[in-house]
Amino acid sequence: MTDQYVVFGNPIAHSKSPLIHGLFAQQTGQALSYQTALAPLDRFTAFARHFFETGRGANVTVPFKEEAYRLADQLTERGRRAGAVNTLALQADGSLLGDNTDGAGLVRDLKVNHGATLKDKRILLLGAGGAVRGALEPLLSEEPHVLVVANRTVEKAEQLAQEFAELGPILPAGYDWLDEPVDIIINATSASLSGELPPVSPSLILSGETFCYDMMYAKEPTAFCGWAREHEAGQAVDGLGMLVEQAAEAFFLWRGVRPDSAPVLAELRRLMAQA
Ligand code: NDP
Repeated sequence: MTDQYVVFGNPIAHSKSPLIHGLFAQQTGQALSYQTALAPLDRFTAFARHFFETGRGANVTVPFKEEAYRLADQLTERGRRAGAVNTLALQADGSLLGDNTDGAGLVRDLKVNHGATLKDKRILLLGAGGAVRGALEPLLSEEPHVLVVANRTVEKAEQLAQEFAELGPILPAGYDWLDEPVDIIINATSASLSGELPPVSPSLILSGETFCYDMMYAKEPTAFCGWAREHEAGQAVDGLGMLVEQAAEAFFLWRGVRPDSAPVLAELRRLMAQA
């Protein structure tokens, strides 16, 4: 039987993962099938266990990443730190390995696809939810000058700063305390999903130099990218590359082959523009 892979989520019909992994498989000549799997909200664990009676690997998206973390028998270091798992892989001994490839995907998109340098930079992360938790270890391992985590609910930023302090210079903040310009701003709030903006001041942008990144992606520029361009940020890019890169990391974990993400990202962009 062809090796089976899925992405668990609820809702899941919108997912681009089957398209991305289908293109990776084609490109690398790997024989596999990859489909969406709508997991019931109250029965994720039983549903996932049933899949792994025959399946080889899974991606996990909203709202099951924490449950997948608890389901995994072993965790990669970045999965453990993130406290959430977006990739599950069946091991030879029948156990399940949990990983979190979101942060590595973000860092790879920033560095490889957009040519950004993170070392010694002042990085501002907006938000303190699951996506930020997954991004902290990979970002701190790039040795920024400082990583500021700003959140509407400041206590969550403080909690993260405390948990990750041993990995590098990380500071919590509320939006109203932010006034120093920074080199890189990463929007990881879900405000973008409803076309809103986190309440940040344009004075954070160093005109022409600041790199603005929105983890969200869309056919049209996101609200945050629009805001960044209006205030003359050096670059304003969305998170489609992060989506493709986190998938490439998962594919590598499952198959031991690293796909070339650039043509897949270009194809996705082309299809999105047509839709
Ligand atoms: P969570 O629900 O875990 O966290 C949401 C965060 O957004 C919280 O910090 C919350 O603040 C903040 N927030 C929500 N609304 C507002 C608002 N109106 N103003 C200010 N802050 C707000 O979400 P995730 O961390 O899982 O996802 C965040 C974003 O990242 C989403 O847009 C998601 O689509 C994107 N993402 C993209 C990926 C990619 O591959 N490109 C991968 C993963 C995520 P508070 O704590 O105060 O409620």
